[in-house]
Amino acid sequence: MPDNRYSAIEMIKKLISFDTTSRLSNLELIHFVSDYLSSLGVESNLIHDAGGEKANLYATIGPPDVPGIVLSGHTDVVPVDGQAWDSDPFEVVEKDGKLYGRGTSDMKSFIAIALAMAPEFATTKLKTPIHLALSFDEEVGCIGAPLMIAKMDQFGAKPRAVIVGEPTLMSVVNAHKGVCSFYTTVHGLERHSSEIDRGVNAVAYAAELVHFLSGISDEMRDQRSQPESGFNPPYTTVHVGTIQGGTAQNIVPLHCTFSWEYRLMPGADANEIRDRFQTYVDDVVLPKMHAVDKSTGIETEVRAFVPGLAPEDGSSAEALVLALARKNTTEVVAYGTEAGQFQEAGNPAVVCGPGSIAQAHKPNEFIELSEVRACEQFMRRLLDEVCAA
Ligand SMILES: [Zn+2]
Repeated sequence: MPDNRYSAIEMIKKLISFDTTSRLSNLELIHFVSDYLSSLGVESNLIHDAGGEKANLYATIGPPDVPGIVLSGHTDVVPVDGQAWDSDPFEVVEKDGKLYGRGTSDMKSFIAIALAMAPEFATTKLKTPIHLALSFDEEVGCIGAPLMIAKMDQFGAKPRAVIVGEPTLMSVVNAHKGVCSFYTTVHGLERHSSEIDRGVNAVAYAAELVHFLSGISDEMRDQRSQPESGFNPPYTTVHVGTIQGGTAQNIVPLHCTFSWEYRLMPGADANEIRDRFQTYVDDVVLPKMHAVDKSTGIETEVRAFVPGLAPEDGSSAEALVLALARKNTTEVVAYGTEAGQFQEAGNPAVVCGPGSIAQAHKPNEFIELSEVRACEQFMRRLLDEVCAA
């Protein structure tokens, strides 16, 4: 086994070296991890996507029939395309107390530190099991983790706590907003702009829908604000991010597509805004389009539907992780994670991991070595915890 040991930094370097940009397969990384764990006598369950190109990995160290602690992270990273990096993003460079590379903060370091500790977890008689839960396609809408979460009951007792190691500078986060995102395409009818009465202007109707969403956005701000929630801003936000449509100034546009999202306060009804949007489409916009031509239409495709993380003050996860992180208070964050998905399935979850979200998705992404050390100490206290109870 000695030849199988990695320091935390060696393991970070290893995981970064796999280019697991979300559009690519993550199987090379997953097979490396499952071979590594297998050499420690730990079996991995792989849960593949429909095409078999990607997989989640779920492994248990210790007694499977006892409620355990899940260490969870996504294996995919965002693209480096078009970014100006000073070094190869997939080869870690250590400089001035920092490790540079894609995924160092978001979020391979957490996974790597857990894996580097795996030999110790595996050779110690654990009273509480440690589960490693690695997902795919988090960065493109948290698509992978639900496939694994749905099967967790088959792998053993329901966990006591899930720790999602997204970068929080090792603070304990017990709440975040949910994210629901969509593409809407308006299919109009093309005509020369001299005969607009016989065309259906896709751009103009899309603009009407965008305006409707802006109205909901204002309503959330003006009527549904929850200043005591700790969120900034303290309400559900609605936003249109991109819009494309039309071909020329003198042609009534045939198509217009826009992408939009809402970031939902935890506990809010995830369907409300989507349903109100659809009702407006069906009752107000479509009848006007169909009055000119029945072949026109509006389609909305769901891109992501990720639940928020609702605070569960005093939950088993919160109490445990506050103690392990040596913190007195919890925090809230503005970004979504897989923690809400774990929670929705009945698993108490918090977010706590090394590195800063400020580095995530940027060129020259890095993690401070002091963060790596803080997370190692966290894992060491976790080891003491799972031996004792
Ligand atoms: Zn992340």
